[in-house]
Amino acid sequence: MAGKSFDQLDGEIWYDGAFVPWREAQVHLLTHALHYGSGVFEGVRAYEGRIFRLREHTRRLFFSARVLDLDIPYTPEEIDAACEQVLEHNGLRDAYMRPIAWRGAEQMGLSARKATVHVAIAAWEWPSYFTPEQRMQGLRLDIARWRRPAPDTAPVMAKATGMYMIHTLSKHEAEAKGFSDALMLDWRGQVAEATGANIFLRKGDTLHTPVTDNCLDGITRRAVIELAEKRGLKVVERAIWPTELPAFEECFLTGTAAEVTPVASIGPYAFTVGEVSRALMEDYDKLVRGKN
Ligand code: PMP
Repeated sequence: MAGKSFDQLDGEIWYDGAFVPWREAQVHLLTHALHYGSGVFEGVRAYEGRIFRLREHTRRLFFSARVLDLDIPYTPEEIDAACEQVLEHNGLRDAYMRPIAWRGAEQMGLSARKATVHVAIAAWEWPSYFTPEQRMQGLRLDIARWRRPAPDTAPVMAKATGMYMIHTLSKHEAEAKGFSDALMLDWRGQVAEATGANIFLRKGDTLHTPVTDNCLDGITRRAVIELAEKRGLKVVERAIWPTELPAFEECFLTGTAAEVTPVASIGPYAFTVGEVSRALMEDYDKLVRGKN
């Protein structure tokens, strides 16, 4: 196994309003979320002691909870304050943070309105989702065989635990074939996103990225659109078909964990790890550190 098991880290986790030692932050086997996927979460990063766009993450957490009919027993302000506390309490300045809300074990079976909605926030040092080599040379993406479902077949707009089932399957299949990640298409066959990040493609001075009707409305995606426009690039949000891939010159992924990571190829289509990706990597790094 790579690295230390995530239930064996040090520190304390905010769990239903109080801090508990890391290894004691547990759930029961009959937790509803484990059986039926009734959980929503966020991935947040703090840089040099400042949490990047915390309010946007908390807003999305509550949005996801609403989509899953989960009633979070705190206000967004209380969750924001708890995130700040987690960082401070654990003496962390650069950290990845994972707020999660889920239905507990008080009720078993499909109907679970009376089950308690629990909330926990863990934070740990997590340098980069991809290795420095992958970030320098660009990722090689497989094209996943699983497709993101239509909005009337699954709660696709929510950052919900169950939505990640096909993403893990796609990531595993890609890794087994020697790729670092996979491009997910949607139910129509349009380009959607990578397994844990949004996608941008460049042609000339224009960046193209899928509209968010088939992918997560990424907070990094929004930030990168602003940064690209500041650099005078045009950004077009539209439906993108895989048949268009050969026409693009550069490609990169965006996400809280992935930050801005260049893509060298998607299936048989190659891209240059070029200037625009590198410039936006730097711009994003400055932005999260409050330096631009
Ligand atoms: N898509 C998926 C499937 C993700 O898991 C993530 C990471 N949360 C993203 C996109 C990027 O979103 P964000 O920039 O808000 O982290």
